[in-house]
Amino acid sequence: MTSKGSCGVKMPEIKFTKLFINGSFVDSVSGKTFETRDPRTAEVIAVVAEGDNQDIDLAVKAAREAFDYGKWPRKPGFERGRIMMKFADLIDQHREELAILESLDSGKLLHLNKALDIPAVANYLRYYAGAADKIRGETLKCSGEYQAHTLKEPIGVVGHIIPWNFPSIMFFMKAAPALAAGCTMIVKPAEQTPLTALYYANLSKEAGIPDGVLNVVTGYGPTAGAALSSHMDIDTISFTGSTEVGRQVMEAAARSNLKSVSLELGGKSPLIIFNDADVNMAADLAKNAIFFNKGEICVAGSRVFVQEDIYDEFIKKISESLKTWVVGDPFDPNVNQGPQIDKKQFEKVLRYIEYGKRDGASLLTGGKPCGEKGYFIEPTIFTDVKEDMLIAQDEIFGPVMCLMKFKTIEEAIEKANNTIYGLAAGVVTKDLNTANRVSRSVRAGMIWINCYNAFDQGCPHGGYKMSGFGRDLGMHALEKYLQVKTVITPIYGSPWL
Ligand code: NAD
Repeated sequence: MTSKGSCGVKMPEIKFTKLFINGSFVDSVSGKTFETRDPRTAEVIAVVAEGDNQDIDLAVKAAREAFDYGKWPRKPGFERGRIMMKFADLIDQHREELAILESLDSGKLLHLNKALDIPAVANYLRYYAGAADKIRGETLKCSGEYQAHTLKEPIGVVGHIIPWNFPSIMFFMKAAPALAAGCTMIVKPAEQTPLTALYYANLSKEAGIPDGVLNVVTGYGPTAGAALSSHMDIDTISFTGSTEVGRQVMEAAARSNLKSVSLELGGKSPLIIFNDADVNMAADLAKNAIFFNKGEICVAGSRVFVQEDIYDEFIKKISESLKTWVVGDPFDPNVNQGPQIDKKQFEKVLRYIEYGKRDGASLLTGGKPCGEKGYFIEPTIFTDVKEDMLIAQDEIFGPVMCLMKFKTIEEAIEKANNTIYGLAAGVVTKDLNTANRVSRSVRAGMIWINCYNAFDQGCPHGGYKMSGFGRDLGMHALEKYLQVKTVITPIYGSPWL
């Protein structure tokens, strides 16, 4: 199936629409399918196999077999690493096509997919490929006539459940460390964005990842997703998504086989701008903190606190800088913001804009949908926001900034922490002591000083409070996919007891 071109970009043929189980593309057992739509137009792009509990059973069986008897967990780490390097090279070779598919399915900007997302996932694979042969335990000296060592073993069969906002990045944040650890896995992409995941499945086979190691089951959350989290033969679930569904995943894990879970959940992140900040830079950071990826980013700087002396100037600068902000076709290199992912999300964001107006916040800019079709929304800024308003408390997951004023550092810290979430925070100041104090006082898993949305494969990412627990990226992520086994043995006649 091919789709409509845009801005001179030739649309690729959509080749992979079936479930990938045990190294083959197969129809779902039920024969059911679902449609994935282009958020620019709401038109159907492709019809994809709809997996449910029967397909999850088959995928888990394949992954279990590959883990219990297959070569992947038993290969020397450097061999796994070599195959992962090849996988990364294949992704580089298919960068253009992957970037287009990602934009088509998710409305993310094509030029950023090409420059950031797709190269980043190849690098995630390389980073963890390098770690695969450095997984090791410790030697421990025990009291008495014993010595011990620990072994780090792959945890087993992993279920990865991922969201739609960064389909490629999420896939490899999860799959790359799990592959390096020697695990086998089932990835359940979000139903809104199945296309690149299936493409990666095909590349994994070409790279030489053995059948059954990496399975991809497309389908809906309450069916395919729930079947993963309640499955008796899965050893851990790595979930990224909303706090509400994270809770359901944890409950299902507890009710079934007590599998471990790691949860990367929602956020309502604060960006705190102090009087001494360069206002141009602060306005630019604030704009990108919330409007990047159309506000569909878990760390979005959705609450912006500006100290009173520069508040008015900040408002002037950010309003000015939004005059050149372009909402439109994500295939156009001059566009800054594409469409929201789907109708549900589009309507949710507009509903929150109405709540903001109803509750007495003032609309500084935006507030309306734009374009004749698709799910485009103007970048929206509310001022006069009170901390207890819904727009200041709930994760909107769209291009809506809540602007608030503060007087003292103590007040800023207290307000920043006044949320159930704790995913990320930003601070803009020239004063090192202020930056340090805020970094230590805000309860969040990621703090950016004079920058925002900066990520690296080596830097752990995850939340405090109801933003979840466990970390993706960095060496911390590898630990989610490993178990520690302690081996103790007597030692006789040692001169060092
Ligand atoms: P979601 O929770 O609705 O869905 C996430 C995934 O869970 C999807 O694959 C979905 O099919 C699946 N799912 C839904 N119901 C399920 C169930 N009952 N059992 C098992 N799986 C189920 O979230 P979303 O709307 O896709 O994504 C947006 C949310 O994700 C936001 O809250 C955002 O903050 C969060 N997010 C967090 C991070 C992070 O790193 N903390 C990153 C990206 C997105």
